[in-house]
Amino acid sequence: MRYHKIPDETVKRLPRYLRAAVLLRRGGKKKLSSSELAEFIGSNSTQIRKDFSYFGSFGTRGVGYDTQKLIKQISKILKLDGQREAILIGVGNLGSAILAYEGFSIYGLLIKAVFDNNLRKIGKKLNGLVIEDIAKLKSIRPKKIKMAILTVPSNQAQHVTDKLVDNNIRGILNFTSCRIEVPRKVKVVSIDIALDMARLPYYMQ
Ligand code: ATP
Repeated sequence: MRYHKIPDETVKRLPRYLRAAVLLRRGGKKKLSSSELAEFIGSNSTQIRKDFSYFGSFGTRGVGYDTQKLIKQISKILKLDGQREAILIGVGNLGSAILAYEGFSIYGLLIKAVFDNNLRKIGKKLNGLVIEDIAKLKSIRPKKIKMAILTVPSNQAQHVTDKLVDNNIRGILNFTSCRIEVPRKVKVVSIDIALDMARLPYYMQ
């Protein structure tokens, strides 16, 4: 089944629903109503029901959703049932912190390899992974890894991106403050914490 018509705003909320469902399932919840889910994530149940209506009704009125089914369905829509492995480029302060972050595992996302160009770092072990030479990026090809986390300095962002694309990376989580150019077949999601921080004072009293 294809899910062409799911609005972007809904897609953005799906990972949050998924995480909540996984945590509630771990806590023993086999059935889940939209209001329980709403309460858990601090959203509203009407929004959740509307979001879920985009991919068919698999909940039963009054009974709620089968938690396991919900997890499977959302994972499938997000394609998290297939694409799960990523590499990380640039093991500096930010890269190391991301590598140590445990929040990816709930989605089954796994950082499989890390690369850097600093000879003092290459060969060292971090979080169970040996830092590899970026010059050997080709080694990811047979592993069919399609996602990359980019934590190099901004002035290296485009150069490294081109290498990633050449090595079949099709999704990049860009932590640099630089806009990167990619072919249409490659999707970029950019995260710039400074931007979010910079708009915070505006909302404060
Ligand atoms: P450190 O000072 O330990 O390197 P940092 O966070 O200040 O930490 P940055 O200058 O932001 O480092 O660089 C982040 C990481 O990206 C570093 O580990 C750096 O060696 C690496 N890096 C820089 N250029 C490249 C490149 N072209 N290819 C791969 N890795 C790179």
